[in-house]
Amino acid sequence: MARPRVVQPLLLISAAIMAVSGTGGSLARFAYIRQEPEWPPEIAGSVHDASWPDFLEFMTRNNITWLARSGGHGYSPTLRTIQNAVMVNMENFRYASINSDLSVSIGSGATFQDMIDAVGGAGRELRATGASLGGGVGRLQGKYGITSDSIRRVRMALWNGTIVEASDDINQDLFWGVRGAGQNFGIVIETTFETYPASDGGMHYNVDMTFSGESLETVIDTINSLIPDMDPALAIITLFTIDADSLEAIVALGLVYAGSEVGGRRYAQLFAPFSRTFNESLIPWVDLPSQSAGGGVAANCQTGLRHNMYSLASRDLPTSTYREIYDSFSELIVAYPGLNRSIVLIETFGQEGVSALPNDYSAFPHRGEIHNLVVLEMVYTDDTVADVADDFAHGWRDVLAQPENSGYDRLVVYQNYGHDDEPLSALYGYDEWRHERLSSLKRSYDPKGHFNGYHAIPIDSADWS
Ligand SMILES: Cc1cc2nc3c(=O)[nH]c(=O)nc-3n(C[C@H](O)[C@H](O)[C@H](O)COP(=O)(O)OP(=O)(O)OC[C@H]3O[C@@H](n4cnc5c(N)ncnc54)[C@H](O)[C@@H]3O)c2cc1C
Repeated sequence: MARPRVVQPLLLISAAIMAVSGTGGSLARFAYIRQEPEWPPEIAGSVHDASWPDFLEFMTRNNITWLARSGGHGYSPTLRTIQNAVMVNMENFRYASINSDLSVSIGSGATFQDMIDAVGGAGRELRATGASLGGGVGRLQGKYGITSDSIRRVRMALWNGTIVEASDDINQDLFWGVRGAGQNFGIVIETTFETYPASDGGMHYNVDMTFSGESLETVIDTINSLIPDMDPALAIITLFTIDADSLEAIVALGLVYAGSEVGGRRYAQLFAPFSRTFNESLIPWVDLPSQSAGGGVAANCQTGLRHNMYSLASRDLPTSTYREIYDSFSELIVAYPGLNRSIVLIETFGQEGVSALPNDYSAFPHRGEIHNLVVLEMVYTDDTVADVADDFAHGWRDVLAQPENSGYDRLVVYQNYGHDDEPLSALYGYDEWRHERLSSLKRSYDPKGHFNGYHAIPIDSADWS
């Protein structure tokens, strides 16, 4: 088995920052990981929209590598290829405003919270742009598709400083590629999303449950029974996690229904009889990310931890295989308590909105293939457990990827959850026409490979794996 590929999140890169400056407003700040004395003052600080051309022209002329950073939540080990670089920190592009057609335009430093606040609902954490670049999976995808399906327009700075717009009306090829492979072509400055009327007064039905390990088969069987023709308003997140009190492995399940209380309770009751704890509530959309799933998503934003993550998409959840993983996870934590923040996560979201669009709608290649997203996330602070953590996650990802377990004859991985050991086709699709289209876009918009830090698309379509 390969040696550990410890994730180097941007958060670690930012620890190496030597100088940061910026004055707020719509300014990108530059964080210098490498500081050269001869650098002129115009790049020693921040840049306004209008100065992108000068800035990027200077950077390319002087052969300086850069990396855009929106939320700093990017996990991919491919980020390690960017060294001695200037980090273009987009956090000052943090705004969200409603347009007259009720779409919302956000700067790439805006969080989902900013976006949702502007729309009149709410959310929390994660810069909205970063997730959308890889597609953007989420609880409402059953109703409205993935996040990037709602993008109507982007404004970007290309490698040479040219500012372009991309939409259905202009630069359509770039617009296609940005939605699913968007880290590859330029720096996204602003994105405009379509919005939708809130249902049920903006209230969502939420229930958080826990189960002992003995109920695992029943939980998995129940989820499996819901997957065919899954209700578009239903979203289930299942975790193998460690109980904070007993320090034993348990199953936790968060169910959210973006519809009526009665509708949501119908599904919750399927799990209720064998749950150990059962806490139901109606939660305003504004509070869902911080309160649903026991607040687990927000907790995962904590800094200072190592994260090593492998993932795959799976049509099926074979009960016997998940029993083996669960038992193996329990044994792992007993043997290595330093891994007790680790999780096995299964996201089971509605498919209707995703599958409603044609397969070639955007660069996101997995329509009809993301019934379950399984994530093996190893979390620790002490590197002595790094090898064993990697062996566990890598090994089980490979087992789950076998066709008899996943239901797919090849590995399928959501790009934002990629590890860098997958064939690129697992992230961007196996169709040759996709390879040709993406490589052609790369040649047009990033011919010198300035945006190669995140699952880089090859210039030559012959180089696809
Ligand atoms: C706790 C947690 C929860 C998550 N939940 C979800 C989820 O529900 N749904 C989902 O789809 N994903 C989810 N993800 C994955 C997430 O979408 C990716 O990690 C994503 O890359 C994060 O975006 P970011 O803005 O933080 O990216 P960053 O870490 O800032 O950057 C990641 C990559 O994108 C590039 N990039 C960043 N900003 C720009 C820009 N403006 N223009 C061009 N390139 C840019 C960077 O250069 C880098 O290569 C989650 C991740 C975490 C850590």
